Amino acid sequence: MIYFDNAATTPVDPAVIDVIHEVLQKDWGNPSSLHRKGYQAEKRLSAARESIAGILGTDAKSIYFTGSATDANNIAIRGSLKSGTGQNIVISAIEHSSILNLAAQLEREGWEIRKIPVDSYGRVRWSEVDKLVDDYTALVAVMHVNNELGTIEPVAEIGQKLKEDHPEVRFLVDGTQALGKLSVRLSTLPIDFYTASGHKIMAPKGVGLLYVHPDAVLRPLEYGGGQERGLHPGTENVAYACGMAKALELMMQARTSEQYDPNITEIHRRARARIARMQGVRLNSPEDASPYILNIAIEGIRAEVLMHFMEMEEMYLSSGSACSKGRASHVLEAIGIPDRLREGCVRVSFQRENRADEVDPFFDRMEEGIRMMRELQR
Ligand code: PMP
Repeated sequence: MIYFDNAATTPVDPAVIDVIHEVLQKDWGNPSSLHRKGYQAEKRLSAARESIAGILGTDAKSIYFTGSATDANNIAIRGSLKSGTGQNIVISAIEHSSILNLAAQLEREGWEIRKIPVDSYGRVRWSEVDKLVDDYTALVAVMHVNNELGTIEPVAEIGQKLKEDHPEVRFLVDGTQALGKLSVRLSTLPIDFYTASGHKIMAPKGVGLLYVHPDAVLRPLEYGGGQERGLHPGTENVAYACGMAKALELMMQARTSEQYDPNITEIHRRARARIARMQGVRLNSPEDASPYILNIAIEGIRAEVLMHFMEMEEMYLSSGSACSKGRASHVLEAIGIPDRLREGCVRVSFQRENRADEVDPFFDRMEEGIRMMRELQR
């Protein structure tokens, strides 16, 4: 099997499974219980939070565990809106559906949604943000790495300028495709909220995190026993929180200093070289994108057909974002891919356990599929 659809989800690392297993077997207490079993579970949860906070360069008090990145995005956005203060929300046109669809709902509730256009590689420019933010803006959201293109957004620059010009506006950065892959120092990033998910870094689905800057105030969306300091009440999933911490530690071990994981860099280099030799293709990901994601427009094919052709040999890629389930991609539309090419766009995405020698057999099969489809069209 060659699995190159890791932006949708990753397999779970065996070392992460071991940690989860151990917590479920040994430290299964309720972290809020005052006896020893509770204390043991609480110790595990705190250690997981501290480890993640340390890696991300922030204080453990700023990290909240959630059920997913979707969960974290909803808490950050809804939790920071106060009726009667801001009147508009500014988001990039290529945000994940967990932000776009929430924005659509907020629009139905009376908020004005302003979308920041992007260039032909999905880049958000400060000058475009600046045109849309005004005295009535409550929140700006720009993702760190786009999940379809891999485009890295200049979130530090945007945050800096936003804080200078509009200090009261909250800034959310969805870091789901960046966590563990790019260097992130939350204490130096001029942002209010950062969100991420476990299942993009070889932890299970069902655990995410929310970073909240110490000066930002959030109102909870749910009420309960006060867990996660009231922001995400409900008895904590200690095992998955520990699994996510372990997964992030493993991601960091694979990276040399502040650079990308050299294995991913090599896989990415080889894949790009193969794509460069292909006829009738356009690389939709910019040169300086995250090396974990490559998006390619291929003339004369249908991505879904190619995906099923690859699948017959147990090779996996994506015909779009898994979260949009076959609907036309708003990201490809935003970067101006013509209709004719839009249904021929595929995404290949990598993770730590992929190997460089998987690239050639994968692209051999892909070229075979493209040839066949183009011949059928003639
Ligand atoms: N944001 C981005 C950028 C994503 O790629 C994803 C997952 N596709 C999410 C949010 C949602 O993450 P989760 O599955 O944990 O809700």
